[in-house]
Amino acid sequence: MQRKVMVITGGSRGIGAATARIGAQRGYAVAVNYVHNRAAADEIVSAIRAAGGEALAVQADVAVEADVVRMFEEVDRGLGTLQALVNNAGILERQARVDEMDSARLARIFATNVTGSFMCAREAVKRMSTRRGGSGGAIVNLSSIAARLGAPNEYVDYAASKGAIDSLTIGLAKELAEEGIRVNGVRPGVIYTDIHASGGEPGRVERVKDAVPMKRGGDPEEVAQAILWLLSDEASYVTGTFVDVTGGR
Ligand code: NAP
Repeated sequence: MQRKVMVITGGSRGIGAATARIGAQRGYAVAVNYVHNRAAADEIVSAIRAAGGEALAVQADVAVEADVVRMFEEVDRGLGTLQALVNNAGILERQARVDEMDSARLARIFATNVTGSFMCAREAVKRMSTRRGGSGGAIVNLSSIAARLGAPNEYVDYAASKGAIDSLTIGLAKELAEEGIRVNGVRPGVIYTDIHASGGEPGRVERVKDAVPMKRGGDPEEVAQAILWLLSDEASYVTGTFVDVTGGR
C-alpha cells in the first residue's frame, strides 16, 4: 500500500503524539519530530510500528533553520514524497505579565512558534506545490484559542505568537490555493498535556475548566481528530479557515 507521508512537528508528546497515532491508523506514514525527548518519540514510533504502521523519529529544533532543512531531507529519504504537514511544535514560558517579559523570552517564543512554523511550511511547499512539480497536499497549523482571548496575566507573548499563526494560515492558504495545497488552522482550548507544566502550573486545566461551557478540559485525541479531518479529502473545499476545539469557549 502506498501510504501518504505526514510530518508532525512536536510529534513526541501531547497533541502531536495523538495525531501521530491516529494518523498512522488512518494509513499515513508518520515522521515524528521531537527536539529533546527522544524516548517519547521512540515510544510513539514503536507503538505505530507494532500496530503495523510506518513511522520515523526525527530530531530537529524547528527554530533552527539547518535542522528544519535536514529534517525534511531525512523524511524524503526515509518515508518518501510528502503530502501533509502538521505545524504542531509550540512552547510557552512561565506565567508572567507583559511588563515582566524580556526580549530573550520573546525571541524564544517567536522563534519556535512562528519562525519554526514558517520554515517548516516553506520546506513542505517546496515539495508539495504543483507550481514546483509536486502533487499537492495539506498543512494544518496549531494555533490556540489564546489568539482570540489574549491570555492576560499568563502569556500574552504566546497568544500573540498564535495570532501570527492565524495570519500565516490565512495568507498561505490564499497563496497556495491554486497550487494543490490547502492550509488550515486548529485552535485548541485547554487540553490535558504537559505544556501547562512548562507555564509553571501543571494543574492549570483543572483550575480553568469551569470557564469552559462544557466544564471540562479536552483530550489530545479530540484535537487530533480535527487536525486529521482538515488534512483529509473530506475537507477538500476547506482552506484558510479554523476549527476551534474548545468545548464551546
Ligand atoms: P506539549 O505536550 O508541551 O508537547 C510539545 C511538543 O513540541 C513536544 O513533542 C516537544 O518535543 C515539541 N517541541 C517543543 N519545542 C520544539 C522545537 N523547538 N522543535 C521541535 N519540537 C519542539 O504541547 P501540546 O500541549 O501538545 O501542544 C501542541 C500544540 O498545540 C502547540 O503548538 C500548542 O501551542 C498548541 N496548543 C496547546 C493547548 C493545550 O492546552 N495543550 C492549547 C492551545 C494550543 P520534546 O518531546 O522533544 O520536548
